[in-house]
Amino acid sequence: MQGESGFHRRKCPFVFFRIREVAKRGWFVAAICRMTSPYRADPGSCNHGRVPVYRDEGVVLRTTPLAEADRIITVLTRRNGRVRAVAKGVRKTSSRFGSRLEPGTYVDLMLHSGRSLDTVTQADIISPYGTTIALDYARHTAAAVMLETAERLTSEERQPALRLFLLLVGGLRTLAAGKRPAPLVLDAFLLRSLAVSGYGMALDDCARCGEPGQHLSLSVAGGGVVCPQCRPHGAASVSAGAVRLLTDLLRGDWDGALASEARARREAGGIVAAYLQWHLERGLRALPHLERA
Ligand SMILES: [Zn+2]
Repeated sequence: MQGESGFHRRKCPFVFFRIREVAKRGWFVAAICRMTSPYRADPGSCNHGRVPVYRDEGVVLRTTPLAEADRIITVLTRRNGRVRAVAKGVRKTSSRFGSRLEPGTYVDLMLHSGRSLDTVTQADIISPYGTTIALDYARHTAAAVMLETAERLTSEERQPALRLFLLLVGGLRTLAAGKRPAPLVLDAFLLRSLAVSGYGMALDDCARCGEPGQHLSLSVAGGGVVCPQCRPHGAASVSAGAVRLLTDLLRGDWDGALASEARARREAGGIVAAYLQWHLERGLRALPHLERA
C-alpha cells in the first residue's frame, strides 16, 4: 500500500484492519480512518484513508513567500488544526486567489493532501477580518499577536484545536466590529486561549495551596494569584481591580470588563503579556509593537 511506512503501521491501530478489510469494506474503513484524525500527525507516511482532496474552513495565520510566485500559508482550521499549504501563483497580480489568503482572513478552503505540504485548490472568503482590522493600528497589532499566539499554541500540525479556533474567530470578529477596546479583546483572547491550552491562570484560590479568598500577590511562574504563605520571591503585588478585570476577561463577562478603570486595564495587560511570554518560553515577535491605549 503506497505511502504506509513501518512507523505508521506500528502507530495506527486501524491500519491492520484496513489492510485486511479494505477490499471488502473500503467505505467503512475510510469512515473509521476519518474519525481517527489524531493519527494524521504523520501525514507524510500515510494519508490514513484521507481523501486526497478535502475541505475545511480556517483563519490564515501567516504567509511565507515560496519560489517566485507562490506562498506557503499557515492556517488554523476548524477540523484539522494547524495546516500548512502551498498557494500556487498567489503573488501574481492575475492570481485567482486575489487577496483571499492574507493573514487574518477567515476562508473556506479546498485542499489537496500532499506528502509534506498540502496545496490550496480553492479559497472563498467567509469573513475578511484581516482587511477590516488593518485599517486601525491598535486593532491590527492586537490581531497580529492573536494570530502569532494561535500558531505558537498549536505546536503540532494537524492536531485538532477546535476551542482555540473558535476563540480566534470570535476574537477577530470582535476586533473587526470595533465596538470593544482592542487591548481588552486581545487580553480576553490570550487568557482564554492559554486556558484552553492548559495554562489557565488561577485568579480565585491560591495557585499553590488552593487557599480561597482574594489574594493580591501574583506569580507568573506560579500560575496565578498566591496567598501570603505561598508567595514566592519575585511575586508581584496586584490590585483588586486588576484581578477582577482578569477574572471578567477570562469568563467573558464584558459588562464587568468594560466597567474597569484605565489603571486596572494597564496593570492587567502587563500581567497577561508577562504570563503569555512565560508560557511560550520566548518572546512573541509581534508583542513589542503592540499599542496599548
Ligand atoms: Zn497558598
